[in-house]
Amino acid sequence: MKAHDGMYIDGAWRPAAGRDTIAVVNPVDEQVIAEVPAGTVEDVDAAVRAARAALPAWAATAPAERAARIAALRDVLVARKDEIAESVTAELGAPLPFSQAVHAGVPILVAGSYAELAASYAFEEKVGNSTVYAEPVGVVGAITPWNYPLHQIVAKVAPALAAGCTVVLKPAEDTPLTAQLFAEAVHEAGVPAGVFNLVTGLGPVAGQALAEHEGVDLVSFTGSTAVGRRIGATAGAAVKRVALELGGKSANVILPSADLAKAVGVGVANVMGNSGQTCSAWTRMLVHTSQYDEAVALAAEAAAKYGDRIGPLVNAKQHARVRGYIEKGVAQGARLVAGGPEAPREQGYYVSPTVFADVTPEMTIAQEEIFGPVVSLIRYEDEDDALRIANGTVYGLAGAVWAGDEAEAVAFARRMDTGQVDINGGRFNPLAPFGGYKQSGVGRELGSHGLAEYLQTKSLQF
Ligand code: NAP
Ligand code: MG
Repeated sequence: MKAHDGMYIDGAWRPAAGRDTIAVVNPVDEQVIAEVPAGTVEDVDAAVRAARAALPAWAATAPAERAARIAALRDVLVARKDEIAESVTAELGAPLPFSQAVHAGVPILVAGSYAELAASYAFEEKVGNSTVYAEPVGVVGAITPWNYPLHQIVAKVAPALAAGCTVVLKPAEDTPLTAQLFAEAVHEAGVPAGVFNLVTGLGPVAGQALAEHEGVDLVSFTGSTAVGRRIGATAGAAVKRVALELGGKSANVILPSADLAKAVGVGVANVMGNSGQTCSAWTRMLVHTSQYDEAVALAAEAAAKYGDRIGPLVNAKQHARVRGYIEKGVAQGARLVAGGPEAPREQGYYVSPTVFADVTPEMTIAQEEIFGPVVSLIRYEDEDDALRIANGTVYGLAGAVWAGDEAEAVAFARRMDTGQVDINGGRFNPLAPFGGYKQSGVGRELGSHGLAEYLQTKSLQF
């Protein structure tokens, strides 16, 4: 794979300050496919200075001009979508059709949505005798994870640019090649120098330097709750804006009136997609006691059918972590009905699609984010019991409700402590706000709510 040996700062690829590199590994065969520079405090500082210098001019551009640049960026992503899919497949291990449809496809939709929003958003509003202006927050430090490498980047950079902010991105160490490709796309789209900057590197070095930098006005972070908590604390101490998109342990609630086979089938597919490395995955399937055995059989069958179509996990650490969780589930008395802790292949970070039955709500596998292809079936007695279980974790990112009647599903969904719920398999909507209740995070991404995160208001009274 082609890799840049520098950082994209102030509109050009520039030599890194240090000589350390990060090896990029293909999780399918565990081979090193590229090296990228490991950024230091100096690289981050240079990138933040460039972003700060570019801010006044970019913040002052007409929204229509920013919209045009984002539309051009969308067009470059469209033109290079095969390359993007190949890059994600090489460094994340996702099967190519999934990379094409989701890893390349979704960012194109999101970039397109922000090209439109930048042009149509009301950046100015009259309230009584006041005019209220929505102005850019300033320089954004964006820190992204590896699970949806390009989506996580575009979900931050596109609204930041639409708002008139400038950006420094520190992508995940496991997936820097897709981030470099994105920087090339920004360049090709004619975004002015310094408006977008990329520093590859390690979280505790480059990520931390970015989160702590005085020249950053807003830190937008997606990743683990442990790191998010620290970033939130640092931002709080500096009285700096922060957006945190953290973990999840979402419930898929199947009410007795639902189409059971469909709900179980879609539910298993939801978890297995991207090898379970999805923060909003419905990893707990809640089934009424009268339908429990049937649901277990259907889920085991659906998981077994996945077989070879599932990709590996991203790295050796996640591989060990997920297998450890499966062992813990067995040790705590859950019943394996598909998959298990054994590695299904000799090479690559693979885990078999795994289904646990007889999971009780307090078990570790029902409480903690596993981030692998593991779904837990939990039995409930009645609706109140289902609600208690659904709401009974520290997380609140997503969820699903299935019922024969939409109104019944909506009534249940309104009682869930979670940021988004799919009703009877509702489709992904790139304009719907995405984000967490409780410890799943602070703030929202996507659509106009995502844009508002990058704006601050000024009111003038007349
Ligand atoms: P992570 O460490 O939180 O990584 C997220 C991003 O933060 C990466 O760019 C990471 O850099 C960076 N980072 C790490 N430590 C940092 C620090 N001290 N200061 C600033 N930035 C820092 O997550 P992970 O280690 O990749 O995955 C661990 C677990 O997090 C997963 O098992 C999963 O449960 C959860 N996770 C959740 C999401 C989500 O979408 N909510 C996504 C990924 C992971 P490096 O890449 O160099 O670590
Ligand atoms: Mg990490």
